[in-house]
Amino acid sequence: MAAVAALSYSSVRTYLECPLRWRFLYVDRLPEAPRGYFSFGRTVHSVLEDLLRPLVVPTTRLTPTGDTQRTLDDFGGRPAPPGRLMTREELLAAYAQHWVSDGYVSAAEEARYRLLGETLLTAYLADVARAPPTPVALEEHLEAQWEGIAVHGYIDRIDRAPDGGLEILDYKTSRALSDEDVRTSDQLTLYQVLVEKNYAEPVRSLTLYHLRSLTPLTAPRRDGEAVDGLRERVGKASDGIRSDSFEPTPGRQCARCEFQGLCPEFKEVPGGERAGLLSLVDRFASLRAEEDRIDGELRRAAEELHRAAERLGVHRIPGSDRVAIRRREEAWQFRPRAVRELLEASGLAGRADPTDPGAVARLLKDPSIPATVRRQVAEAGSRRVRWYWVLEDGDAAR
Ligand code: SF4
Repeated sequence: MAAVAALSYSSVRTYLECPLRWRFLYVDRLPEAPRGYFSFGRTVHSVLEDLLRPLVVPTTRLTPTGDTQRTLDDFGGRPAPPGRLMTREELLAAYAQHWVSDGYVSAAEEARYRLLGETLLTAYLADVARAPPTPVALEEHLEAQWEGIAVHGYIDRIDRAPDGGLEILDYKTSRALSDEDVRTSDQLTLYQVLVEKNYAEPVRSLTLYHLRSLTPLTAPRRDGEAVDGLRERVGKASDGIRSDSFEPTPGRQCARCEFQGLCPEFKEVPGGERAGLLSLVDRFASLRAEEDRIDGELRRAAEELHRAAERLGVHRIPGSDRVAIRRREEAWQFRPRAVRELLEASGLAGRADPTDPGAVARLLKDPSIPATVRRQVAEAGSRRVRWYWVLEDGDAAR
C-alpha cells in the first residue's frame, strides 16, 4: 500500500485523469517538461506577491487543534498599517528580477510573453492603486486533514470580504475564463475547505481573477453538495493511491503528457517480437468473434424462453437432460444525500449506510421501518429488474 502524501487540487485532478501519469509525477518524481506559460504564470504570481505584500493585514488563524485561536499578537505585535504600493518602475524591476526563461519554444515567443506581462502588470498596478484590495494573506500554503485525508494548497490571495468573512482569489493568466469556470472550479472548492480549516472566519466568496482583462469572476461560497462532490473525488484519488492502483487511462490529457515513451498505452512492441505475437492476436480476434456470435445466440434463446415463461406463467422449462430455470434479480440505486436526510428526519439515522445501495434496499423489506418511510426511501432510488436463466440437471430439478 502506497503512503499518501498530502493531496493538492492538481494532484487529485492528475490522478483522476490518469493514475499512471500521477505515479510518474508524484512517486517516480519524473520532471515535467518546462512550458513557457507555466514560467510566465510563475513570474507574474511572484511579482503580484511583491506588489501586494505591503498591503497585507493578517487575521486570526485557528491553531492545529482547531478549538482555540491565535490572536493578532501572535503575528509579532500589532500589524503595521498598510504600506505603500510600488511605483511602475519598481514593479518592472521586480518583473525583470523574477523572469523565468524556461520552456518558451522560441525567443520570439518569450518576447511576446514578456511584453504581455509588462502590459498586464502595469494595468493591474493602476487598477490596484485606484482601489487597493484588503489582503490578509498572499501565496499562503495551507494544509488540513479532511475526513482522514491530508490535503494542501497554495492560495494566491485571501482578502477580507466587504461584508465580513474572507474572499479567496486565484489569479489566472490564461486566455479566457467563463462564469462556469468559477462556479465549478474544484480548485476553489478545495481552497474554501483549506481556508475554513485554518482561519477563524467563514469564506464568503470565491474569485478567479482574469489578469489579461483585469476581470474578477466571483461566485458565492460553495454549498454542501459541491463540497461533498469534491470530497468524493478526493476520496477516490486517495483510495486509488493507497491501493497502488496506477493503470494508464488514455484520454485528451495524453496529448500534453511527456511520458508517452514510458506508457504501456503508447510503447511499441519490439520488432523481433511482432511476427510471433501477430498470429496470437489473430487467433484471439477470431475466438472473440466466435464468442460474440455465441453470446448473441444465447441472448436470443434466453429472450425466447422468457417470452414463453411469461405466456405460460412458469419458471421451469424442461429440456431433454437439463431444466432451464428462470431467476429474478433486482438492483437498487439510491441518492445517498436524500436517503441520509430521510433517515435522519425519521429518527432512523445509522440504520443503514446511505452510500451502500444493498443496505438501503434491505430497509425496504424491513417490517420494523414504518411503511411511509419505506415508500419515501424507495422514491429516493430507482430499481432495475433483471431476469436470467440457470440450468439444472433434469432429475435434480424435479
Ligand atoms: S500517455 Fe496518457 S495514458 Fe499514458 S501516462 Fe500519459 S496521460 Fe496516462
